[in-house]
Amino acid sequence: MRFARVQFMLPLPEPFDYAIPEGLHVEPGQVVRAPLGPTDRMGVVWDIGEEPDGERELKELFSTYPSPGLSQPFRDFISWSARYTCANPGAVLRMVLRSPSSLVPSKTELVVLPGQAEQPGRLTPARQRVLEFVEQAMPMTQAELAREVGVSTSVVKGLIDLGCLQTDLRQVDPPYRLPDPEREGFELTDEQASAADHLKGKVRNGGFSVSLIDGVTGSGKTEVYFEAIAEALRQDEHSQVLILLPEIALTQAIMKRFENRFGAQPTEWHSGLSDAERRRAWREVAHGRARIVVGARSALFLPFPNLRLAIVDEEHDGSYKQEDGVVYHARNLCIARGRFEGFATVLASATPALESLSNARAGRFDYLRLAARPGASRLPDVDLIDMRQHAPDKGDWLSPVLTRELAGTLANGEQSLLFLNRRGYAPLVLCKACGEKLKTPGTENWLTEHRYTGRLVCHLTGFSMRRPDACPKCGARDSLMGVGPGIERVAEEVRRKLPEARLELLSSDTVQSGDDIRALIMRMEQGEIDILIGTQMIAKGHNFPGLTLVGVVDADASLKGGDLRAGERTFQLLSQVAGRAGRAEKLGRALLQTYDPEAPLMQALAHTDRDSFLDCEEEMRMVMGMPPHGRLAALILSFPDEMEAARLGREIGMAAPNAEGVEVWGPAPAPIAVLRGRWRWRFLVRSDLGVDLSAYMAAWRKTLKLPAQARLQIDVDPYSFL
Ligand code: ADP
Repeated sequence: MRFARVQFMLPLPEPFDYAIPEGLHVEPGQVVRAPLGPTDRMGVVWDIGEEPDGERELKELFSTYPSPGLSQPFRDFISWSARYTCANPGAVLRMVLRSPSSLVPSKTELVVLPGQAEQPGRLTPARQRVLEFVEQAMPMTQAELAREVGVSTSVVKGLIDLGCLQTDLRQVDPPYRLPDPEREGFELTDEQASAADHLKGKVRNGGFSVSLIDGVTGSGKTEVYFEAIAEALRQDEHSQVLILLPEIALTQAIMKRFENRFGAQPTEWHSGLSDAERRRAWREVAHGRARIVVGARSALFLPFPNLRLAIVDEEHDGSYKQEDGVVYHARNLCIARGRFEGFATVLASATPALESLSNARAGRFDYLRLAARPGASRLPDVDLIDMRQHAPDKGDWLSPVLTRELAGTLANGEQSLLFLNRRGYAPLVLCKACGEKLKTPGTENWLTEHRYTGRLVCHLTGFSMRRPDACPKCGARDSLMGVGPGIERVAEEVRRKLPEARLELLSSDTVQSGDDIRALIMRMEQGEIDILIGTQMIAKGHNFPGLTLVGVVDADASLKGGDLRAGERTFQLLSQVAGRAGRAEKLGRALLQTYDPEAPLMQALAHTDRDSFLDCEEEMRMVMGMPPHGRLAALILSFPDEMEAARLGREIGMAAPNAEGVEVWGPAPAPIAVLRGRWRWRFLVRSDLGVDLSAYMAAWRKTLKLPAQARLQIDVDPYSFL
């Protein structure tokens, strides 16, 4: 007897077995419905087994969906990802499968088009309006047409009956327009051409490979991988390409570049899509008809049947790490998928992650360097402003040097960008009367003052309250003051010093939707803004032709967190920000305000000497056995009671298995010690490279018997240490 092993999108330990009813054709990988408990659910046939005697009483599958199944290598990738991230396979599958509506063909609807017949005998004004409108409008339904023109549907129906209009069946979710690989790109420089040739070769040969394009901002990394995309599209008429971008970089500007290059908009995939767009994209990908997909990290789990090439742009970017649910790093999993499905993977960055660079230097990845910026554009000069010598006036945050440069840039009719990675007005609110620091109730987290909204907000927990008139502790009135700078405060200072400048703020508080961001970016591109002040949202991907000055208000800020990657991350962020300046013909300049100009990181930035900085970092990691010279995983316990959380933490620590080459540190209170009423304890586990750390973590978790209210999260390759 043949039976199907069905994996559900539920936290079940393994697939369930089902009998295959007579007459139902079932293939491995197919999406099916099967009875489970009191209802029936969607799942995937993980494989099909054969039982000689068929003695077991198995429930029968209900039905299959008419969508292409998930291939064996893709299913293997899903199983592997679950194992690697210590997640449940059902949880990973939930990231793959979407609503049932994407598994059935698109609905169709009747639309109205101009008809064959001549004008009707009796041409009423209403009829005339309809006929004129239809000549120029996109096809639409009768009801839509009647509404648009402002006539009753009977007028439209009458014209159809007369043959002056005709109807046609149209898909509600039509396929995407197909890209054309033969359109000409730029004429590449020698350096670009040789990188492009290398990638084209990898695509043509087929099979798994990883290449790292390490190229300064503006060196044409995008143009180079466009060539690889064109080559992949030429391979056969169904080949598909995936481009992953950090969520924030999915702007219309990059979509436009794709459209210009390939003559059709690529398929988009990110959190801002409507359900209908999602359904359409998923279905078209699954059928192999969406050929270029540009998406945020979750696009990695789309069911491509024929992926030939995947590109991870800005591969060092922190937003590739998903921290909730299945905790994964999209760059790392993309490489893994490439290995299972046998496609070429390309990582691109101006500031590659130490891990990637180390892999490239060791020859595990192909290493392509782009050192030059084509055309007139040059990397900006980076200068440090020693804040001990050029102290700002009392209560200000911009040194006289930076202020002068801003004024000069404005006078030249050029644009400036000020970067400060702190949202709101002030990161701390203090009572002048009693010294109380306002915190989120029950935690040690400071509240940030937001003048824009008049609220105090905790950026870690999301807690927020109206700014009180009196100190909650001592009751003194008008005694609260904001301490330290946020971008709203810097904006206030700029407004005071340069009142004539057209100033805008960009942070997640000041712009809510993707459309708002796009509108603001567009205005900056078109020179309608003189000074843009923003958080890291402005660091990435945008190309502002008129921007010649970048000012970093507090270059030391992100070093203060002090985790493993603080130095690397600061370097990446600041060189990205600096790289915004001077992308067109005009020369750019970046000024970094720092209290520690001698620090190796600041020196490396000032001398654009990335490699010696990274050598230093890498040596340190090697000595400490840290990634990429060792492995890390974290285990986070949270529990709603403080004492019990501490006790459970100790108990979990005692249960850590002994293993060669593994060190367990903790339990320690997490830096965010209380989150949404739960006390948090952390373990950090380091192992040598040869150790299967995922297996170690899973084995540890298995030994634990915890109360139902306890939550455990395992984070393999942690990036956040909060
Ligand atoms: P990166 O991705 O490395 O930051 P881009 O591919 O975005 O660089 O290129 C930066 C700018 O230079 C873009 O406007 C691009 O169109 C232009 N550019 C890149 N290569 C060439 C070339 N060979 N000829 C002309 N313009 C180019």
